[in-house]
Formats: sequence, structure tokens, C-alpha cells
Amino acid sequence: MEILKKILVVAGPCATESREQVLATAKEIAKLGIPMFRAGVWKPRTLPGGFEGIGAEALQWLQEVQKSTKMSVAVEVARAEHVRLSLNAGISTLWLGSRTTSNPFAVQEIADAIAPYLKHNSKIKVLVKNPLTPDTDLWSGAVERIKNAGVNEIVLVHRGFTSYERSIFRNVPLWSIALQMHKRYPTLPLLCDPSHIAGNRKYIEQISQQALDLAFDGLMVEVHNNPNTALSDASQQLSPAELEQMLYNLKIKEDTPLDSKEKVAGNKGDTKKLHIKDIGLLREEIDQIDSKILSLLAERIEVAKRIGEYKKENDMPLYQDDRHNTMLEQRAEDGAQKGLSKEFVKRLMEVIHSESLENQINNDSKKS
Ligand code: PEP
Ligand code: MN
Repeated sequence: MEILKKILVVAGPCATESREQVLATAKEIAKLGIPMFRAGVWKPRTLPGGFEGIGAEALQWLQEVQKSTKMSVAVEVARAEHVRLSLNAGISTLWLGSRTTSNPFAVQEIADAIAPYLKHNSKIKVLVKNPLTPDTDLWSGAVERIKNAGVNEIVLVHRGFTSYERSIFRNVPLWSIALQMHKRYPTLPLLCDPSHIAGNRKYIEQISQQALDLAFDGLMVEVHNNPNTALSDASQQLSPAELEQMLYNLKIKEDTPLDSKEKVAGNKGDTKKLHIKDIGLLREEIDQIDSKILSLLAERIEVAKRIGEYKKENDMPLYQDDRHNTMLEQRAEDGAQKGLSKEFVKRLMEVIHSESLENQINNDSKKS
């Protein structure tokens, strides 16, 4: 597949469930030309009682995957014992899950367990997922501990962040955090895990496309041969056929005019990536500003409704021409001092005011 020449794709089930499931899924994924298979052997579950993974027994199935396909295999390690069992089984790509990255004691224990193996195993690679909270230092701390142990191949994986705010996604992406990490570690590959951001397979493609637009280096996607029967994360796993379709659909946008200009000017290095990512960072900022504007507007309308109630109780008219005009003039003046055109501020305030009035009236008619 063409896209696999440009980005790194890691795919595989949330968890190993049975030999049949692992081998069947791996066979389909390998057919697409994917270089790395992922599978959780030990699953960190938020609540007790869920499927916690098969454990060490599953490592032999993953060895079979490595032997029967060209794929390397990655497993999640949360303890020193997981590291030893995996490396002893010839599984050299390890990943730190979000819950583990959040815990420096666990990360250090893992780093210490990896260190002695580096003498004889040069293939050890560690993928570090972001912590649960949007904390670039905590994420960097995990990277540093793994680096200090002597690991040279480290990959960052952005899987979104736990948030109290309601969102259509399971975890909010907060792309700017991942992009800040890229600025800190420009040489480390940066992957996006759209499955854990989405929580629902219907959003995986759009999140993946967004990651590629931000020039991420690849994707880590949950894929199961029969997603609906999966013992963990069933709603967010793709079937191998869905993965194939998505990889056909995804587009890697080539040079922006800015990049071409720079190339003509003879600039060298990874400038394209940084430019596209910077634009992404700015867009993220715009999204956050817009969200604040909308929250403030909602707050303003609530206050206007309270004023409306007061006016009603005191038999005052809802609309007062003089107050309206004074308000427009004051806002235009305030806006001008902030560098906005008076014309624009007046137009904007007219729209806001009319919406407030509409709400006062409707609020009123609901009550009467
Ligand atoms: C996983 O990749 O299956 C997993 C548990 O992810 P995370 O650590 O991102 O929640
Ligand atoms: Mn999962």
C-alpha cells in the first residue's frame, strides 16, 4: 500500500484473547504490508473485574506472529516483570500505556528492567504514550527515564487525554500538547493512536486524517478480526477490511506553498513538518479561543435572561432604545481601543443583542 511508504502504521488488537484471534488478525494485517503488530498481553483496566489480558501465555502466540509474518510485535509493559517476560520471549518493542506514563515509579522500574538487556539486544524500541493528563513534563519525564536507561529508539504516541468536559470523543485530543512534545523531541517519531482518542470506530478515520494533516509520522490503530466480540475496547476496534479502506482513504497532503518557497530558497532540514505543525498549533489555539467566546456568549445570554425576568416583574419594557444605543457606542469605543474596527464591533453587538432579546422573550413566554 502506497501510504505505508510514507507513514509508520502499527496495528493490532487491543488485547490478545486467543491463539486463533491473534493469528487470524495478524495474518490479515500482514497482508496489507503493515510492519508492526500491536497487542496487549496485560491490560490495565480502570475497574476491577474486566478482562485483564491473557498474560504471559500469549507471548508464544506473538512469537508465532513474528515467525509467520514479517511484522515485529509490540506489547504493553507496566511492570519490570512484563519487560523481562517480553524481552526473554524475543518481543523487542515495548510500549508504555497512558496509565504507566502517568506514574514515574512504574516508568523507572521499567527503565531499570530494560537496561541490562540493551547489552545484547540492539533492537529494543520503546513507544511512550502520553500520560492521562495533558502534562508535557510528565510525558517528557517518561521519555527521559527510558532514554537514560540507554534506549535509543523511542517513539511518542499521542492517544488523547482524560477530560471532565463532555466530548464526542473518549479522550480529548488537545493536539497542541502533542505538537509541543514534537518541538521538544523533534527527532523522535510521533504517532497518533486514533482508537483511544475516538472511543468509537466511526471517528477513527477523521482523527487519523487530522493527525496526518499535522504531519504526524504514523498511526497506532486497534484492529481485531471480529471487533464486536472483542473482550476489551470493542466499540473502537476496526476490522482488517476497515483498516484497509481507511488506509486507502487517508491523504497525505504534500507541500504547502510556503514549503515550496523555502525549498526554492534552498533551506534544508525538516522545515516542512515544523511549518505544518505550527499551523496546526495555531489552529488549535483558534479552536480554544472560539470555545471560550462561545462559553462567554452563553454566560451573557444567561445574565440577559435574569435581567429580562427582573424587567418583567417590575413591568419594564424589555427593549430600551437609549440603553441599546449607548451600549453600542461604548462597545465600539472599547473595541477600537483593542484594535478592532468600530463598524465590526457594532455589527457583532447587534447580533449578540438581538439573540439576547430573543432569549428574554422566549424565556418570558415559557413562564407565562
Ligand atoms: C491500549 O493501547 O490498548 C491502551 C491500554 O492504551 P492507553 O494506555 O492509551 O489507554
Ligand atoms: Mn485498548
